[in-house]
Amino acid sequence: MRYRCVIGLEIHVQLSTKTKAFCSCPADVFDLPPNTAICPVCTGQPGALPVPSEEMIRYAVKAALALNCRINLYSRFDRKNYFYPDLPKGYQISQYFYPIATGGYLEIDGDEGRKKVRIRRLHIEEDAGKLMHEGDSITKATYTLVDMNRCGVPLIEIVTEPDISSPREARVFMEKLRSIVRYIGVSSGDMEKGALRCDANISVVDTQTGRQSNRVEVKNINSFKFVERALEYEFNRIVEALERGEDVERETRGWDMSTKTTVSMRGKEEESDYRYFPEPDIPPIVLTEEYVENVKKEIPELPDEKALRFVREYGLPEYDARVLTASRELADFYEECVRAVGRPKELSNWIMTEVLRELNERNLEITQTKLTPQHFADLFKLMDEGKISIKIAKDIFPEVFETGKMPSQIVREKGLEQISDEKLIEEIVRKAMAENPDAVQQYRDGKKKVMGFFVGYVMRETKGKANPELVNKIAQKLLEGD
Ligand SMILES: [Zn+2]
Repeated sequence: MRYRCVIGLEIHVQLSTKTKAFCSCPADVFDLPPNTAICPVCTGQPGALPVPSEEMIRYAVKAALALNCRINLYSRFDRKNYFYPDLPKGYQISQYFYPIATGGYLEIDGDEGRKKVRIRRLHIEEDAGKLMHEGDSITKATYTLVDMNRCGVPLIEIVTEPDISSPREARVFMEKLRSIVRYIGVSSGDMEKGALRCDANISVVDTQTGRQSNRVEVKNINSFKFVERALEYEFNRIVEALERGEDVERETRGWDMSTKTTVSMRGKEEESDYRYFPEPDIPPIVLTEEYVENVKKEIPELPDEKALRFVREYGLPEYDARVLTASRELADFYEECVRAVGRPKELSNWIMTEVLRELNERNLEITQTKLTPQHFADLFKLMDEGKISIKIAKDIFPEVFETGKMPSQIVREKGLEQISDEKLIEEIVRKAMAENPDAVQQYRDGKKKVMGFFVGYVMRETKGKANPELVNKIAQKLLEGD
């Protein structure tokens, strides 16, 4: 590869605190009617004073610790000044000079194995409101409306070093980050609802000449799929420019979902454009070591740690362990099943294939389903006793998942019990042999593969219910000449 990709991410994570950052309005405003969760503080009325939420600070510290950051015991809020109609104060309260945390990292499954992506800083800031422009499909407005519900919703912004080397790694990083904020319970991590938003800086290095392109910022990426797509699009656009002996503009571009392209939004603004200065209405945040230690104690076992334990404790391959621990709920469910049923590897196979397929198809979390460890206990018992084959088990699984019925009940209702009647199977094999003397001869001439034909015949006749081991045994015995 002549061209190397250099990506850094700026991610906004909405904190799932009860209240907004600096007032007592509710922070979860997603489903609320416009302008119903606002007050003089978050709409910037004269004389209103912001008071930082303690929960917000604790959540930020918790996230920073989970991302291996150094907590800065002294941090401060600053004003980021700019005018926009969704920002009633004319500035956003953020942390610029003294962020709450710096210097962390997140380990991901990179293109060339495990790698650390360094985190430069993590700071707290408030969200802005939302504009709905003319022609908006929901409001059908002929003018622009502003909804200030989101003003003052607490966010953390996480800024990585440019350590990400491909669009795929950017997606993997985002997925891992979501997994962690969910594990520690500081955010829903829901990209569709804007609780996790990503801006990406991308540039390309020509490894032959050592030349590096201008850096482009891509904004408004609102799904994991689009993180990867938007960056792939941008990578190709920059490479094309370099091949022509040109360069791209240093600018901010937006991902346009309808055209699957990025479009120019504006020239990249410099930090000096914002005229940051210390927020005079909020005193500095001074934390103690003891406070940080206490927050540390609230952090549960995180995905990497849990995956290692799964390898150690259940003898799972590392790949399985990582898939199962990507979501805390799924990992908990797996462990509950192992406690109830045993057989960790078998359960891991079922969860990684059948269960994850059902979850993905229906876009559900494990906790939203009727599935319990007892379903697996029942299913394994049916297979152990030879009442159903693994094929039947897999066939009925979607119904178990959907209805929550016990597998044994479904087997009974549908008459799916496996046929282990040797006489009956023998009868069918004999019928197959009588109807297909040529195939019998081929087998006896040494073409052992013909066996599959006889097994298939029996399975067809019994609608897949014959015990496959018995069928094999009986067919072999009869074909080899009894
Ligand atoms: Zn408010």
